[in-house]
Amino acid sequence: MTITILGNNSALPAYDRHPTAQIVTVDSEVLLIDCGEGTQMQMQLYGQKWRKLNHIFISHLHGDHYFGLPGLINSMSLLGRTQPLNLYAPIALKSIIEQMMLAADSQLNYLLHFHPLNVGEATLLVENKAFSVKSFPVEHRIDCHGFLIEEKSHGLKLLPEKCREYQIPAYFYQRIKDGEDYERNDGFTVKSEWVTTPALPGKKYAYTADTRYTESFLPHIIHSDLLYHESTYLDAEAEKAAQRFHSTSKQAALIAKAAGVKKLLLGHFSSKYKDLQPFQEEATEIFSNVYVTKEGESYEI
Ligand SMILES: [Zn+2]
Ligand SMILES: [Zn+2]
Repeated sequence: MTITILGNNSALPAYDRHPTAQIVTVDSEVLLIDCGEGTQMQMQLYGQKWRKLNHIFISHLHGDHYFGLPGLINSMSLLGRTQPLNLYAPIALKSIIEQMMLAADSQLNYLLHFHPLNVGEATLLVENKAFSVKSFPVEHRIDCHGFLIEEKSHGLKLLPEKCREYQIPAYFYQRIKDGEDYERNDGFTVKSEWVTTPALPGKKYAYTADTRYTESFLPHIIHSDLLYHESTYLDAEAEKAAQRFHSTSKQAALIAKAAGVKKLLLGHFSSKYKDLQPFQEEATEIFSNVYVTKEGESYEI
């Protein structure tokens, strides 16, 4: 799973930083989380293709998280998209899009499946063989949702040499990987665990959108491999952060520590800060594995 940052600034674009958007690539599918203004240009700039994009998740309806969506969905239609697109977002976005299409007397050339997010409760949004996506409530000035993307476990890993040693025919390999034992013609039973190594757990990525400091969503993000937590302000502005339902870099680090995640990404920086190094320094005092995100950079789990 790879996370590519397209925008890591808060409300206003500043210092070449854009409003929030990021691409998650998992099992060759492309997911878009939030879609701030300029997202389609950032996708072009960083070589992100929309043809594999089938799911878009919008955390909340502050403009810095969705003003890029009308442009993106319209461009995909102009560029010949025909495959359906799933949009998971607060319910009010449905009528906003409908109103825009109506005013422009235009239609998309593909089906836009709108999935309203449940307010105040965690919900499974997507589940397939390779991964799942859940939403969960965070605490912001308006209804806002975090997302947890979980890769499925890849199953038992086959050891081909051992299989040959025990004379297991190739056609039976998949069943061995599914945990079945193999009984040879001579009556000898080869145990699945003799010729496999245990399954590795799937990776977990948690995105907590815009939120004030709260431990309310800890159970949803616990032990994630990677956490993206907003850090709009530095600690000196903690009071302002609380008033505006945002967090500081120190608070993001406290959450990362409490959730026992492996790595923390910081983003959603206020445009009052040009230099982001102090964000790194403040957070590192509390949690060691911190990255101040950079647009265009990819973080692999
Ligand atoms: Zn925001
Ligand atoms: Zn917001």
